[in-house]
Parts: sequence; C-alpha cells; structure tokens
Amino acid sequence: MTTNNLGLYIHIPFCRQKCKYCDFLSFPCSSEQVYREYVTALCIEMESRAEECAGRPVDSVFIGGGTPSLIPPADFRRMMEYLRKSFQVAEDAEITIETNPNSITQQKLDAYLECGINRISIGIQSFDNPILRRLGRLHDKNEAFQKIQMVRKSGFTNINIDLMFGIPEQSMKTWLDTIRQGIFLGPQHISLYSLQLEKGTPLYKEVYEDKIYAPTPEIIDREMYHEAIALLKQAGYVHYEISNTAYPGRESRHNLKYWSYEEYLGLGPGASSFFGGQRFKNHEKMNRYIDCIKKREVPVDGQSIEHYTAREEMGIYVFTGLRKKEGISLDDFRRRFEVDLFTVYDPAILKRHKGLINLYNNQLYLTDAGMDVSNSVMAEFV
Ligand code: SF4
Repeated sequence: MTTNNLGLYIHIPFCRQKCKYCDFLSFPCSSEQVYREYVTALCIEMESRAEECAGRPVDSVFIGGGTPSLIPPADFRRMMEYLRKSFQVAEDAEITIETNPNSITQQKLDAYLECGINRISIGIQSFDNPILRRLGRLHDKNEAFQKIQMVRKSGFTNINIDLMFGIPEQSMKTWLDTIRQGIFLGPQHISLYSLQLEKGTPLYKEVYEDKIYAPTPEIIDREMYHEAIALLKQAGYVHYEISNTAYPGRESRHNLKYWSYEEYLGLGPGASSFFGGQRFKNHEKMNRYIDCIKKREVPVDGQSIEHYTAREEMGIYVFTGLRKKEGISLDDFRRRFEVDLFTVYDPAILKRHKGLINLYNNQLYLTDAGMDVSNSVMAEFV
C-alpha cells in the first residue's frame, strides 16, 4: 500500500576509532566541539527541509552512523527539538538510535528516553573477546553484557543487537555461543550480518595480503547463517527479513520501509533518500556538506540523483521486497505500476526456481531455502 508517511534517517558520521572491517562513512573523532557544530549543521538542514515535508507524518526516525551515542546529551536534546519542530513526527513513531556499548552512559540513556527514543540498537557483533579484538571493536564481552542490561533497566522495551558471522577463523562454536548468549539476554530484535571484507580496510589487508587469518569459506558462512536462524526461530524470533529476526510485532518499522518501497529522507553527509519519487544522496565529503549548509543550500549531491526507468523501478520494488519473509503482493505491484508483474517478468521463473520462490494468495515470496540463495533468485528480476 502506498502511504503518505515518511521515514527519516539522520547520519552521525563519527566514531571513537575505526573498526578494522569498516568502510562505512564515518570518521574517528572525539571532539565535543566538532559534535556540537555538526549537530548545528543538522538542525539547519532539518529546518531547510521542513517545508517540503509538511503534511507528511514521520512514522519512523533512525539515527544511525557512525556512532550516534557519541553525541553528548545536551546536543542530542537540541537535535531532537529541531527534529520535532521541523517535521510532523507521529505520536506513535518508531524512533531508533544506533549505539556502541563503549559510549553508552546512564546520562545518555536518560536523555534518549526523555526525547522519545523508543528503540535502541546496540552494535555488539560478538560475545567472544578474541573475535572482538580481531574486529577492532572497543568493547569486550563483559561491557556488552553490562550495557545491554543497563539499557533494559533504564526502561527500553525495544532493543536490537547486531551480531556478525563469517569472521576470519571464527569457529562455528564461537558463533553459536554468541547467538545463544544473545538469546539469553532477550533483546526484542536480533540482526545478523555476514562480514564483508572490503578492500582498503585493515582486516582485508590482514586476510588477503599479510595472510594472518584465513577467510571464511562460503559454505561455512552459509552454515553459520542457517544454524543461527534455526536457534533464533526455536527461541521464538521470527525471521522476517534475510538479515533480521524479531519477536512477533517487534519488526523494525524503519527497516521495513526500505524494503517496502516507501519514502524516506536522509539527513547528514552521504545520507541516501527516496523522496518525492527521486533517489539521491547528500554530499559525502564533510566540507562540501558543511559549505552547502553555511550557504543555506540543500546539501544534495547533484551527481547522485538517479534516473531510473519504470522497468528499473519495478526491479527495485521486487528486489527489495523479496528480502521480506512476506515477499511482495502482486496486487500492490499492479496498483503502483499499473501492470501485472507476470506480464513484465517471465512466469517460468517460478518453475526455474521451484522450491526457492513461491506464489500463494497473490503473494510472491522466497522460501527458507530461497532466502539462502536470494541473490541468484532476485537476479531474475533486475
Ligand atoms: S562503530 Fe560502526 S561505523 Fe564506527 S567504525 Fe565501527 S563499524 Fe564503522
């Protein structure tokens, strides 16, 4: 169903130090003055976007990064005030902040609750100290446990933890122990990511150039995924998207927006948007972003504006929608694109990928086996 609701993504591009596998848009920075000036820039950007978002209820806000939990409480409150002043944030909006255990404090948690943050996502990655060191994370297992409990005791009832597998020389036992400990702590949502070794990162160099660690074979990576999903399902988590599991009713509204062809506006350097029917990104370079803000210009990188054909948009709709357990509705496809899906795509796809993709009650979806080899099935729709 097409909705007038809008999601907001706010990017906080600072981290205390870079993790060894990270190629996200984030810079090492510990200066509170820089954080303050950056929040001021974000507030100006929010104000400048207010008019075009008028009349569109914001039903999800995701403050991601980087490490948003580095922002001091006073600046955080100021940012949230501007957010509410500039946008029509719905009363029941899902408002998530991404955090790292190392920068969570009681004072910050109190500020989050006071500002209406109702979902907190914690970058745990592993409960194994050697693995955490290999990844270059700043916390250890004890701190991870302690901070998850602190978050819960503070009153948060919607907590996500991110966990990572396929880490060089991570054993199946270590990985499944991490999953079991995650389940034991009882967060409402657990996301699982397979480590991607990105060129240019220190971990890539250690694996492919210095040969300190062996990469995880694809077959083991897939087995880790299966075993983890099986344990999570046994524990009552619903596998609602390829990389995400949640207690029933605790699926992330913001994540679902990305996969349901709904619009969102990104704020901050490098933030992506799907807004007003267009896809674009803000300037990635901090100085370009700040220059635009100073000149009171919208910081969108003109080069990033995508011009997709109707057929390409259909591909995006199907490709992202099939990530969800429920898949896509053929009726919704017809409503949006005014054409039947199987007049655009070959119905023989269903036969070619029997057992991997199903059509039932006008819903097209990947089976469990299909989710596992999702790229090869989804490639049919691009
Ligand atoms: S905390 Fe996240 S964004 Fe920051 S360096 Fe580590 S992986 Fe990258």
